[in-house]
Amino acid sequence: CCGTTPEHIAAVVTEVSQYPTREIPVVTPALRLSGLEALNVIDGETGFINVGERANVTGSPRFKKLIKKDDFTAALAIALSQVEKGAHVIDVNFDEGMLDGEECMTRFLNLIASEPDIARVPIMIDSSKWSVIEAGLRCAQGKCIVNSISLKGGEEEFKAQANLIKRYGAAVIVMAFDEKGQADTKEGKVSIAKRSYDILVDEVGLDPQDIIFDLNILTVATGMEEHNNYAVNFIEAVREVKKVCPGARCSGGLSNISFSFRGNNPVREAMHAAFLHHAIKAGLDTAIVNPGLLMKYEDIEATMKELVEDVLLNRKDDATEKLIDYAEQVKAGTAGPGALTDEDRINQAMVKGMDTLRILFERATAEKNPEILEKFLEGGAGAVPADSSKKKTSDGKGNWRDGTIEERLSHALVKGIDAHVDPDTEEARVKYGRPLNVIEGPLMDGMKIVGDLFGAGKMFLPQVVKSARVMKKAVAYLMPYMEKEKEANEGSSSAGKFLIATVKGDVHDIGKNIVGVVLACNNYEVKDLGVMVSCERILQEAKDWGADIVGLSGLITPSLDEMIHVAKEMKKQGFTQPLLIGGATTSKAHTAIKISPHYDQPVVRVGDASLVVGVCSDLLSKSRKDGYIAALKEEQARIKQRFEEGKSEEEPDPALALVREKAYQIDWSKEEIAKPSYLGVKVWEKIDLSEVAEYIDWGPFFWTWELKGSYPRILEHKKYGEQARELYAEAQEILKDVIENKRFNLKAVTAFWPAQSDGDDIALYKDEEGKEELDRFYFLRQHKKKVQDETYYCLSDFVAPKASGKIDYIGGFAVTAGREVDDYAETFKAKQDDYRAIMVQAIGDRFAEALAEFMHKKVRDEWGYGMGENLSKEDLIKEKYRGIRPAAGYPACPDHREKGTLWELLQVKENIGMELTESFAMNPGSSVSGLYFGSQHSRYFSVGKVGREQVEDYANRRDESLEETERWLAPVLGYDA
Ligand code: SAH
Repeated sequence: CCGTTPEHIAAVVTEVSQYPTREIPVVTPALRLSGLEALNVIDGETGFINVGERANVTGSPRFKKLIKKDDFTAALAIALSQVEKGAHVIDVNFDEGMLDGEECMTRFLNLIASEPDIARVPIMIDSSKWSVIEAGLRCAQGKCIVNSISLKGGEEEFKAQANLIKRYGAAVIVMAFDEKGQADTKEGKVSIAKRSYDILVDEVGLDPQDIIFDLNILTVATGMEEHNNYAVNFIEAVREVKKVCPGARCSGGLSNISFSFRGNNPVREAMHAAFLHHAIKAGLDTAIVNPGLLMKYEDIEATMKELVEDVLLNRKDDATEKLIDYAEQVKAGTAGPGALTDEDRINQAMVKGMDTLRILFERATAEKNPEILEKFLEGGAGAVPADSSKKKTSDGKGNWRDGTIEERLSHALVKGIDAHVDPDTEEARVKYGRPLNVIEGPLMDGMKIVGDLFGAGKMFLPQVVKSARVMKKAVAYLMPYMEKEKEANEGSSSAGKFLIATVKGDVHDIGKNIVGVVLACNNYEVKDLGVMVSCERILQEAKDWGADIVGLSGLITPSLDEMIHVAKEMKKQGFTQPLLIGGATTSKAHTAIKISPHYDQPVVRVGDASLVVGVCSDLLSKSRKDGYIAALKEEQARIKQRFEEGKSEEEPDPALALVREKAYQIDWSKEEIAKPSYLGVKVWEKIDLSEVAEYIDWGPFFWTWELKGSYPRILEHKKYGEQARELYAEAQEILKDVIENKRFNLKAVTAFWPAQSDGDDIALYKDEEGKEELDRFYFLRQHKKKVQDETYYCLSDFVAPKASGKIDYIGGFAVTAGREVDDYAETFKAKQDDYRAIMVQAIGDRFAEALAEFMHKKVRDEWGYGMGENLSKEDLIKEKYRGIRPAAGYPACPDHREKGTLWELLQVKENIGMELTESFAMNPGSSVSGLYFGSQHSRYFSVGKVGREQVEDYANRRDESLEETERWLAPVLGYDA
């Protein structure tokens, strides 16, 4: 004021002027949320935000049940598990007519507040009732999200609620609703969002960062054409809203998208992952999800991904139908992620006859060595061993014989050349001193390269089996020396005693043999009890012999049950040994959920024989045992929990009366029923191999060998073509040998019977009078709640019912390529030539299937309607004709026991020598059996899981105990027996 600065102020000015002025920090715009901990959602920095959906009575039947029972403690555990599974925010909802929403919300949020593990994350207060939201706002600590407000009730209400939200300091979800309702088009969603945004930002003064739009994820694949574009509309709306409403974010309730596939979690998970993938690319910031059921986009199985994206992106007219079909298969376990993995298929191939030493190679794959692999790829066949410095042998022109012993063994293994195995192995044995050193040294090194090449997709299964043949011959050569050594070492302690058996009713043992050999190679004492071994015998032997570990093997589904039985018995009798489970139909999930609860000791599923040594040594090691078992228990508990959660999401089964009402309907008054030219049983022998060979479907042959693709296109396949052609050529040679030298003995028995359906049964009659019943087949009806097709199929639907007054007909058959298949394969096995042995068995299987096709053609002709069908061989193989031949144990008739009835009726054993084991496995293996349905309406389907009411009814029909029925239907039981 007066021009002069007081002295003390001047001093401050002078002092301060030597410092730079403070830079005002730029606050990054963010959606700031918090529970006990802060969650700052910053564009481009924070990843996708998962909001856990399960603490919600409208979405989770389990949560609802607990709240209704007033069990808030258990309900809290659900919230906790959501956080543990990766939810960044927890959605909480009590919107249910019978609940006092305000009270529940208050109580639950207060309880959460005292659980730091839950309270650490922000809460999303979810209700369509404003009073409930306010109750929540009063209790929530930190900064929560209100879910939701919208223009549904007009602007006034909207503004009033937004003002309160601002005062409470919360973020808000705004739904794409307005006075006219829900927006389902892109334009509608965008225009409501923009209008809401302008009001909230300009009039209420909300920070745009605190606004999250829920643009309504609506259900696709409902069968209504107008719903097909729903996913696209959402994704495109997100893209646009992010542009026109700067600062705001987008969200959605994910599970809605897949609502049509309730009860089919594999399909739902895939849809969720694919939808999120595309929506996030368009700018979606957050979604309400079940974090426990989120899979990675990259992990979606290829076929599933394509079908799911066809639906979501509305790419094809028939996308929905195709996905529904596929979903049915997924449910039946014949396709999709629940079906056999590559690993399972390899295992199955092993069980079917794969070679001993593939295992060693599998183990070798575990430690991939890219260097050696590269070297090999560059240098060609010979350039393999790590110490190949001495001589260059990589021209691959035949002078590989000049290489070192290690190089030669490697080359022979990689190329599958068995001509020089014996002298080379002998040379190595002399050089390495002990036979085991040869196996663990050069032979394993060679197999490691094979493993790498296979793993890198540069080598295919047939070659690998040829390599294994070389390995096996080398080991066979060394065996006598190893045995001698063993004698010399008598008294030295073994790594442990392992008892192994294929369970009662099952005949498949090759997988088990492989395990035995691998363990024996690793200094375990192995006692192999063979196939079809009773529980009593297994346990007695385990006791008498003092086994350290017991291993069970099996291939068909009834064997799973037998394994449970063994586990229960072991507990009852106080066994303490760990139990190992292996074989094609076994799985980690089945072992964890169905077997391990019955035995207190570790029950381990060994998915691959190459893993068995690791498992056994962990189980028997003093230092590692406890850690291993703890990890195993934890994994099994997780599998069980996931299973339980999945189950609690399922809809209850409809009443049996209802699904029967919704059976497939045929107007029998108008239906033309074809009459066979004769009735009764007919035996077919001396069937011409060359004639049947024309009916061979070569597709599955390539699958056996892991060459994926459809025949004949596989022959021209970019990646597999060369291998496929080579394999095919070799198969043709063996086929020629089989035909010319009549190696197999094809036999068949078929029959026609007068029949009528009687509810879900089919009654067979002694004659066309239809008075006296000969026997009956019992079938199951689809029972799981359907959303799309409201028909619940049962095979009996395709046969005229008693009430129609018309006599109908069905047929039955059993065909086999004979014991000769295995006998002939055995001659190659004896020569260590598993490659040829497997070839012979694979061709045996082809003949059995081809014979089934061939006989079906004859039967259709005899039934009359086949005469005019005029189909090419390809179309016959594709089953393009009228009628079906469902097989017992397959999805339309999952009870294997129907084979028993068929055997009686056809006198199969007496007529053609095929037998059934007590688990209804067919022996010999290259065999097929089933029933014939002639109706033009008949089709294959999958029964899927059946509910208790139907199982009780089925037990009554069969006049047997519920317990017995449940045992046989275990794989399709839709409830816990
Ligand atoms: N060409 C193939 C044929 C075998 S798979 C091959 O050579 O391998 C097809 C057969 O499986 C059918 O003929 C039928 O016997 C059986 N099958 C398929 N789906 C079925 C279902 N849902 N229920 C019962 N049997 C089924």
